[in-house]
Amino acid sequence: MGIEAVNNRIADIQSRMLALQTQQATRTTTSNTTTGAPGTTSASGASFASALADAMGTQSTAATDKKYTLNSKGIPTELAAYGNGKIPASALEQVGNTRHKLWAPAAQSLNKMIADAKAQGVTIGITDSYRPYSEQVDLAHRKGLYSQGGLAAKPGTSEHGWGMATDLDLNSKAQTWMRANADKYGFVENVPREPWHWAYKPKT
Ligand SMILES: [Zn+2]
Repeated sequence: MGIEAVNNRIADIQSRMLALQTQQATRTTTSNTTTGAPGTTSASGASFASALADAMGTQSTAATDKKYTLNSKGIPTELAAYGNGKIPASALEQVGNTRHKLWAPAAQSLNKMIADAKAQGVTIGITDSYRPYSEQVDLAHRKGLYSQGGLAAKPGTSEHGWGMATDLDLNSKAQTWMRANADKYGFVENVPREPWHWAYKPKT
């Protein structure tokens, strides 16, 4: 790119910024003079903020939208530091009023999903969740290794050991609902032969 092209590009960006600033000033003035009602003013401010967020390609800052850095195996680095099956209680959160726990962001998203499904007349039960290392060893003995036709991951590798997978009790209506909606909550059906197993994929 030549120097002239660069100058043109800078001028273009400056004029866009100016247009955006003018737009903002106009909106603020309009809302203040035409209504004076605080509610309307803040609504206008909110819509400007969301328009700006759209323009900037950013997302809202709700807790479930927090982004995580994953290691090469797709595990959030803050979890990987603890080790599979060794997640401290402080990083886990209860699912509803059950005895089940998941990594806190996964539990929060699952709780929201279960509540939303319930509001639509769909019941999602839960049969398994975070699995400490000792329970993974026990399960491998009882159910056999997946690689050998069984249903258990090699101890120390299970998604349950990261608190990032849950086994759900789904009737056919709930299974259909999950396949249509779960990805909105970050859950994916990712193990063949296990339609009950849903893994949480945090935003990155
Ligand atoms: Zn599972």
